[in-house]
Amino acid sequence: MAPSSIQSPAATQPDSDGGEKYAKVNWDELDFSLTCTDYMYVARFSAEDKFSPGNITPYRNIELSPAAAVLHYGQGLFEGLKAYRREDGRIMLFRPDQNALRMQMGAERMFMPAPSTEQFVDAVKQTVLANKRWVPPHGKGSLYVRPMLFGTGAILGLGPAPECTFLVFTSPTGHYYKGSEKAVNLCIEKKFHRATPGGTGGIKSITNYSPVFEALKGAKAKGFDDIILLDAATGKYIEEIASCNIFILKGDTLSTPETLGTILPGITRKSIIELAKELNYKVEERLIPVEDVLAADEVFCTGTAVVVTPVGSITYEGKRTEYRTGEGAVSHKLRAMLTGIQTGLLMDSKGWTVLID
Ligand SMILES: *Cc1c(COP(=O)(O)O)cnc(C)c1O
Repeated sequence: MAPSSIQSPAATQPDSDGGEKYAKVNWDELDFSLTCTDYMYVARFSAEDKFSPGNITPYRNIELSPAAAVLHYGQGLFEGLKAYRREDGRIMLFRPDQNALRMQMGAERMFMPAPSTEQFVDAVKQTVLANKRWVPPHGKGSLYVRPMLFGTGAILGLGPAPECTFLVFTSPTGHYYKGSEKAVNLCIEKKFHRATPGGTGGIKSITNYSPVFEALKGAKAKGFDDIILLDAATGKYIEEIASCNIFILKGDTLSTPETLGTILPGITRKSIIELAKELNYKVEERLIPVEDVLAADEVFCTGTAVVVTPVGSITYEGKRTEYRTGEGAVSHKLRAMLTGIQTGLLMDSKGWTVLID
């Protein structure tokens, strides 16, 4: 047996309590840490193939050649979406086709074959249903789904992998910002950037994240929850947060940075733009100078992991600015609308949700 095929405790006997409705998890204590579930989905694509069927297999460690392209050249993408349990116990996904399309866009940029939208959505459904007992009860969080596409083929010279792997795993999750569910405190990062014009900021490339670890760690040590990144070209405009998009509200106008290649086009961002227009807010996608952020009435961030999280304060060059949060805030209204649709409490008139059982 290969030495690296270590299994997670959850995978050693995947069927041991498959008959039970829920896994043994303290649903009231869920945060954004990893809980291994029973199964994952794996498909392999040779660079010439455009399609290869995948399978559900027990969740376990994977084996890679030391020469796998992802390890040297960062040829990899990830996605994130959530499965929610409705009040009646049925399970829904939120706009999984959008994640499939974004993975395809990223795959083109990173020179990888990608699963079709149909295969992607089917893989997500199969993985969620195989891990059904890990989908939290209604109102207690959601099952986070992490699809990945990465170059597993061995290669030495700089170039794309001859084989890629499409893998989907899940973890039950709750709040992303532990202890800061009500509002987060951010600071504006001046030294480090996450994306550059012509780079990969517009796709969920694995290469975009560790470059901000140092800045994030420094901010957390000072008591901030996260950092706001500025555009690399001028350092004047806000772009996004390390893992989510940003909106500012001034009067009845909601503004968010335009997606010009350095900002990740969030599916939550896109959904919030639509919902805000429905509520008759004026929505602008534009360049947002730091001064506009400091003059805003409200600031909030959006993403699958953070949903809609109000920003309580932003610190820039040592000066702290506070914003409206709480039940009277527009962010509260938008969050309630979005989560209402996602969890089946509100009617979905847009066809955003997909029932999977
Ligand atoms: C994933 C991600 C987002 C949010 O995208 P959603 O589709 O809303 O989850 C925003 N910014 C970055 C950098 C991201 O990686």
